Amino acid sequence: MLKSYYDILNVAPDATKEEIKNQFKKLAKMYHPDVNSSIEAETTFKEINKAAQVLLDDIKRKSYDSLRTINKTSFKTYTNPRKSEYCFQDLFKKSKKEEKKPEIKPIKGEDITINVEIDYTEAILGTQRSVNIARCTLCPKCSGYKFANNQKCPYCNGLGEKTENKKITVKIPKGLKNGAKLRIKGEGQYGKNGGENGNLYIIVNIEKNDDLIIKDEIVYYNAQISPYTAILGGNIQVPTLWGEATIKIPPLTKANQSFKLIDVGVLNQKTNKKGDQIVKIIIQIPSEITSQEMLLYEKLRDLNLKKTNAKSIY
Ligand SMILES: [Zn+2]
Repeated sequence: MLKSYYDILNVAPDATKEEIKNQFKKLAKMYHPDVNSSIEAETTFKEINKAAQVLLDDIKRKSYDSLRTINKTSFKTYTNPRKSEYCFQDLFKKSKKEEKKPEIKPIKGEDITINVEIDYTEAILGTQRSVNIARCTLCPKCSGYKFANNQKCPYCNGLGEKTENKKITVKIPKGLKNGAKLRIKGEGQYGKNGGENGNLYIIVNIEKNDDLIIKDEIVYYNAQISPYTAILGGNIQVPTLWGEATIKIPPLTKANQSFKLIDVGVLNQKTNKKGDQIVKIIIQIPSEITSQEMLLYEKLRDLNLKKTNAKSIY
């Protein structure tokens, strides 16, 4: 005997629309392909949907009911009503049993990993970063059932999920090493079927200035200056671990001459004192020169020659 739509949904033929809707939701949750991947479940899921489509539509239900009455009358002589009552009970029992052990396994959400860049000072002192994460969450309109009011959920387009963008501020503690991994529990992808959320992992990369050579607590740096700065003197900017610093180059500075910048080296975490930075002067000869500049250099040379000759006379 063919199961009636009422049998499929396990509701009485005089059930209210609300009762049918509730029962449909309950069954749809049990047999949804996302939670129950068996072929039987897929078939049942289709049957449930078809039954609900008819029984939740007043006009369709009315015509279905009148058709049923005709069929019942014609079958009366062949069907034992008690027997059919028994079938209904039997089906009801079976689904009650299935309800007790639904094949819903909690699935843990996936982890999300994000890289952040911080500079040396931030690594030493600690800092914070805001990261944007995009993660999937159950559709708030259909609660993941993929359909609402008996049709594909328009809010999630039948996916049952929505992408959520979230800004998370991460506190980066001081003293981390390059490549350190921070874990923010539960901020990864959402868990499914009541499973735990995944975690958010932050990989901290400490930006390095390749021009700064660090040996213990001392930082070494080679500063390139022009010949005229070396002769005339002037201010130059040099990078340090703690930002830019200014050095006053005195007139007649020689090549390879060193300057010491105090208290800008590596911070000793135990003593809380900083080392120094040694700046070595490199005089950079320009790779190109204009004819006008060349004339001036020649003039300088001639002046210098005169000075030497004058000295040798007296
Ligand atoms: Zn939805």
